[in-house]
Order: sequence, then C-alpha cells, then structure tokens
Amino acid sequence: MENKMDFDVAIIGGGPAGLAAAVYAARGGMKTVIFEKALVGGQITTTADVENYPGFEDNMSGFDIADKMRMQAEKFGTEIKQENIKSIKLDHLNKLVETDSNKYNVKSVILATGANPRKLGVQGEAKYTGRGVSYCATCDGALYRDKTVAVVGGGDSAVEEAIFLTKFAKKVYIIHRRDELRAVKLIRQRAFENDKIEIIWDSIVKEVKGGDFIEKVELYNKKTKEISELELDGIFIYVGIIPNNELVKSVVDLDEQGFILTDETMGTKIPGLYAAGDVVHKVLRQVVTAASDGATAAFSAEKWTEENKDKF
Ligand code: NAP
Repeated sequence: MENKMDFDVAIIGGGPAGLAAAVYAARGGMKTVIFEKALVGGQITTTADVENYPGFEDNMSGFDIADKMRMQAEKFGTEIKQENIKSIKLDHLNKLVETDSNKYNVKSVILATGANPRKLGVQGEAKYTGRGVSYCATCDGALYRDKTVAVVGGGDSAVEEAIFLTKFAKKVYIIHRRDELRAVKLIRQRAFENDKIEIIWDSIVKEVKGGDFIEKVELYNKKTKEISELELDGIFIYVGIIPNNELVKSVVDLDEQGFILTDETMGTKIPGLYAAGDVVHKVLRQVVTAASDGATAAFSAEKWTEENKDKF
C-alpha cells in the first residue's frame, strides 16, 4: 500500500548542485522540492564574474547564473521552500524531512549542502571579503593582474592556488604558520622553483587592514615574536574547507576531512540518499562540476524511485 508522499525527491541546498539536480529531477517528471534556508544560489552568488562556466563568453555574475538556474528549475515545477532542515530520517522507503515548521514524507533525498571555506577568524577578514579578501583564486585571480597578493595556508590548495595566481600577479606571497609546507613534494617543488613566489614562514595573519579595499596585513612571526606589516592588493585564504555534512554525518561514509563518499551514481551507502556538489569528496569544486553532480544525482534518484515504485 502506498504511503502518502509529499515529494518524490527532496533536494537539500539551493546552490548550483541542488538547482541542477532540480532541473533534471523536475524535468524528468519527479515531484521536486528544494529546501534552502538562506538565499538560493549558494557560495557562487558572492562571485562577481564567472569566466569559466561553459556557454557564457560574456561574463555572468554568480548571482545571475544561480538565478537563471532557479528559474529553469521552477519552470519545470520545482517548489522552493525557504525552510531550515532540523533532521532527516533516512529509512529505506520512508524518508522524513523535518524542518523548523513542517514535516515532509519523501521518496529520495539529494544532499547538496555545500561547504564553507574555513575562515581565519581575524579582524578585518569579514570586512574586506569581496574587497581584497577572497577564498577562490579560480574565481578572482584574474582581477589581480600585475598586483601583489598573498595566499594563506601551506596545504595542496594554498600552494597550487599560489602557483595559479602567478599567471596574473607580479608577486605572490605564501604565508604559512609553520616552517614546512604540508603540500605534496611535487607541488612544493613547483612553488620553490617559481620566481614570483616568496614564502613567509612561521607566520600568521593577525589583522587585515585598509580603507575601502585591503591595503595590508599585520603578520606575527611565531618564532621571532615579531610583528610586521605586508602591503598587499589581495589575499586568498586557503586554510581548508568545512563540508556542511551535519544532517548525515553519522550515517554515511566520509573521507578524513568529512566530505561525503559517493559512488559513480552520486549514491551514498543509504539507498535513495544521494549527495552532490561541494559536500562530496572530489578533486574540483566548481559550478560546472556541482551541476554535473546534481544532474547525475537526480538521474540516479529518478531511476531508484522508479525501480522501487511498487514498494512506497
Ligand atoms: P589542508 O590540507 O587541510 O591544508 C590546510 C592548510 O592551512 C595547512 O597548511 C594548515 O597548516 C593551514 N591552516 C589551517 N588552519 C589555519 C589557520 N587557522 N591559520 C593559518 N593556517 C591554517 O587543506 P587543503 O589544502 O584545502 O586540502 C584539502 C585536501 O584536498 C587535502 O587532502 C589535499 O591533499 C587535497 N587537495 C589535493 C590537491 C591535489 O592533489 N592536486 C589539490 C588541492 C587539495 P598546517 O600545515 O600547519 O596544519
């Protein structure tokens, strides 16, 4: 006997992964809902110019891309609910999404909750975000042609992005809190051999300073205890990212950083639970890969609900 189902698929998170999933799911005939507690669009809405999303040779803002995805998802019948999810019950054929105000029975769930860059948590960081402080060299690097920038962090991301930034910037500092990089040897070596890169060892950023735009950072050398100032046009923070996995972290497999492990269908180990976008373990976190994950997850959710249609 069929239970009363409110939706065929509940998509948690309204960034590019969730919106692309909704386009595919709703177009495929599934009764589709997106839950987004904040504004639809996710992290990409903070990027002024997206130069690398295929199909738009004139730059689009992140906000505009997300808005077009939203309209496309709604055109196919997606409902968007601005409700905060409290919990998800993920029994095989009886999934229950509980928000602050309602409960919904759904057949399948796509988790597209994204990730947030880890912040330094220092004075001036929030004030200058978008005005010299960035968490995405791929997005903003080209704005710093012939300028002086710094990258904070010593992992693969920080060092790789520092190398990427040398395509544009005339000088790239890497500010690292220890006296050796965490990045793998090959990446380290490339940085050491790059004339534009200078590493500032044993140092942490204490404060970001400027007028309307960033002008300098205050540094503290942990070994010498010296405080100094470094003039900069931009600073890129790469001290790790934090996946928004809270809703499912106790029931799915995660990598050591907390990103969700999925198979090639974007499936998790829970039947009918899929994950897509930045919350997933993957090598490239971009709008195009989020959209790709979302499409795959929706396709898989549709296939799974169809295969189990007599059991709901
Ligand atoms: P990560 O490996 O966790 O490195 C974070 C870096 O930030 C570390 O150097 C850490 O310093 C530093 N850090 C953390 N908190 C800090 C703070 N509050 N202030 C100053 N520095 C701080 O993160 P990731 O580089 O983003 O890489 C994440 C994962 O993706 C890793 O497994 C990495 O190997 C992988 N990845 C791989 C590739 C590739 O293979 N091409 C590219 C990118 C990322 P300490 O070293 O002192 O801890």
